[in-house]
Amino acid sequence: MQVTPFMTQNVDIGVRPGQRDGYPPHIRESFLSFFIKPLVFSGTHARKNRIVAAYFSLSLYASHSLCFFCFFEPFLSFWQRFEESPRRKATIMHSPRPFWAVFLLSALSSVLASVLPAKPLQQPDFDAVIVGGGPAGLSALSGLARVRRKALLIDSGEYRNAPAKTVHDSLGFDGVTNRYYRWLAREQISQYGTVAMTNGTVVEVKRVDTKESGWHSFFRVKTVHGGEVTARKVVLATGLRDVLPDTPGVKENWGDRIFHCPWCDGTELADEALGLLGGSLEVVPNMVREVLTLNTDLVAFTNGTDGEETRMKMGRWGGFLGLHNVVVDDRRIKRIVRVQGDYGDFDTFEKKEGGVFRVDFEEGEAVYRDGFLTAFPTEQRSRLGVDLGVKIVAGGMWADEQHGFHTNVRGVYAVGDANADNSTNVPHALYTGKRAAVYLHLRLALEDGDRELNQSSATAFKMKKRDVELQARNLWDTMNGRPGELLYAGEFDG
Ligand SMILES: Cc1cc2nc3c(=O)[nH]c(=O)nc-3n(C[C@H](O)[C@H](O)[C@H](O)COP(=O)(O)OP(=O)(O)OC[C@H]3O[C@@H](n4cnc5c(N)ncnc54)[C@H](O)[C@@H]3O)c2cc1C
Repeated sequence: MQVTPFMTQNVDIGVRPGQRDGYPPHIRESFLSFFIKPLVFSGTHARKNRIVAAYFSLSLYASHSLCFFCFFEPFLSFWQRFEESPRRKATIMHSPRPFWAVFLLSALSSVLASVLPAKPLQQPDFDAVIVGGGPAGLSALSGLARVRRKALLIDSGEYRNAPAKTVHDSLGFDGVTNRYYRWLAREQISQYGTVAMTNGTVVEVKRVDTKESGWHSFFRVKTVHGGEVTARKVVLATGLRDVLPDTPGVKENWGDRIFHCPWCDGTELADEALGLLGGSLEVVPNMVREVLTLNTDLVAFTNGTDGEETRMKMGRWGGFLGLHNVVVDDRRIKRIVRVQGDYGDFDTFEKKEGGVFRVDFEEGEAVYRDGFLTAFPTEQRSRLGVDLGVKIVAGGMWADEQHGFHTNVRGVYAVGDANADNSTNVPHALYTGKRAAVYLHLRLALEDGDRELNQSSATAFKMKKRDVELQARNLWDTMNGRPGELLYAGEFDG
């Protein structure tokens, strides 16, 4: 996979060996881990239910003790010798299998585990991870940076508009190169201290059980090289891929006079001889309506789809093609050959004489055109949304605009080309990214507020209980007589 280097902040998202489970190496590697891990584990569970904690702890110790005595032969032989010694006979345990010793230790540890303070919630590495660094992802990152959210953007650098030289219809940046546009955005965002960007391909986004994590939503995000980070929210800005036909000449010239969007590239070819490439006659009227203000010399290449049935389906819109002198050429295209001009040798408002491309067919005369408007299908660039369970509608990820493009999967947002609102351009990518950032930020604030309120009411409850106890103790001390006096009724705790 080709990755455009753009790292503006060096973020190490790989978890170093020995840190993954949060235990220091000397604990993890030593046999002490046999005892400490279950203790901490049950301590964590004790937050919810002490009986469950004790149960877990006991069963873990039981299995550990089995392993322990299976693998530590010297200890076993020592025990055997002890069993045969007269000292052993004096002990009160008449069947002191080694298991008993460990069992007692387990019981003690279980009790300890349930009274130990609970392990604090695992802190996520980031408030949000944004997957994809096109305009949608960058816009989301910028929105989060402005309110000091901790966010990481991971990008594999396969931008949809990479084949095109310049970006158009992006206010304030009309005609700048795509690379410059992205560079400037990154440069500006990198000035903010709480966000970071890195190259990489995300291979898995996994929702972690929210009850265990204690957060409203909690994700583990894995990259192709084994790096892993955690985040409370995920923004999928993973874009679309254009599915181009294998006809020779299409892929080679994609984005340079063979384009899909009049707003992006149409003006540059205004008034030139245009071909319409969409595969089917049915889609041609829509293409003509889109482009008529720019081009009137139109030939539709319909690749054997012009038949009675299709014309019936089109109804009166078939006549519309006639009204505008759109030529329908139904022959099968063999190849498209560029006969004039190399990539990027044209500029806005520059006009050329003659056709730039020759269209060769399986039979008959070739046709010359200056460029082509296309209607090829698209597909999701990434499977992350599907794997997470995001609903797919008409090839896009369903996202609720009213709630900042939040998908049906809690904590996951879908922005830019990849979502299903049927709009694919840079301004739309910016808008959706920004909207998701606003909603995501407010959602996190709401969740934090909720947690704070819960904690403060729990503290208030505890305070109340303690106050009542103190009052009772004070009253006892005042009313109670001294030891030896008639009114003495014993100590408060007695
Ligand atoms: C030839 C062409 C020219 C265009 N010209 C214009 C124009 O002039 N003006 C205009 O407004 N629009 C234009 N568009 C449309 C524009 O490119 C898109 O609307 C825009 O790029 C959408 O932005 P995005 O951020 O959603 O997706 P993209 O820009 O495609 O970015 C998606 C990013 O996500 C990354 N990604 C995907 N999966 C993963 C993963 N698993 N892990 C990490 N990263 C991942 C990809 O590598 C990519 O970098 C053009 C499109 C084409 C095809």
